[in-house]
Amino acid sequence: MNRIDEISANLEKVNEQIKLAAEKANRSTDEITLIAVTKTFPVSDIEILYSLGIREFGENRDQEASAKVSLLPGDVKWHFQGQIQSNKLKSITSWASYIHSVDQLKYAQIISQHSGGIEKPIFIQVSLDKPPQSRSGVNPSDLIELAGAISELPGISLQGLMAVAPVDSPAEEAFAELVAIRSDFLRTFPAAKSLSIGMSGDYQIAIKYGATHIRIGSSILGIRSPIA
Ligand SMILES: *Cc1c(COP(=O)(O)O)cnc(C)c1O
Repeated sequence: MNRIDEISANLEKVNEQIKLAAEKANRSTDEITLIAVTKTFPVSDIEILYSLGIREFGENRDQEASAKVSLLPGDVKWHFQGQIQSNKLKSITSWASYIHSVDQLKYAQIISQHSGGIEKPIFIQVSLDKPPQSRSGVNPSDLIELAGAISELPGISLQGLMAVAPVDSPAEEAFAELVAIRSDFLRTFPAAKSLSIGMSGDYQIAIKYGATHIRIGSSILGIRSPIA
């Protein structure tokens, strides 16, 4: 099979699964944005996805993404979802339409400084890991305070929450916990309704738990080299 047919068939399967999961959850697929995660994959793959109608792409690294952004049409929306480094954040703010992985006030401050007077949509990443696991994301108990400080910054528009399922426990449990965290969060930040959860291994579950943005790489593009 050539690459176009392969990607097209994968995308069709994913869209079918999204539809089924949404039906089961009594949700409309209009509420769910599919972000094609293209990290490590070549521009030619992104162009194929573009030709198939995809306009939302997710990347994890500033340098790799910046190079790709300049080669794709201007109607593409780029989502940054990788681990943030302060020294890359000015550049990320310049090309990313959405930044999903904000988990510290200092990052939001840098985005705010560089947003150029236009509100940059961001998500706060919440950690669903249990100690001793600890990857990116704010501890749920610190979420409200962080969100309060972020929401006072100019040039930032808080969209909602983002999370990655833990590596060592079921996604279902973690997403159920996140629903509780989120309903508490929404009492203080009712406008920040977006929920960016769900990857290739768990997007059907994520849809059940209210995902509005799902970030899918390998189910569409195939296996990645392990570096990312
Ligand atoms: C790589 C990545 C994805 C996509 O992962 P797949 O399992 O390939 O779908 C989604 N979200 C984040 C934060 C990632 O780093």
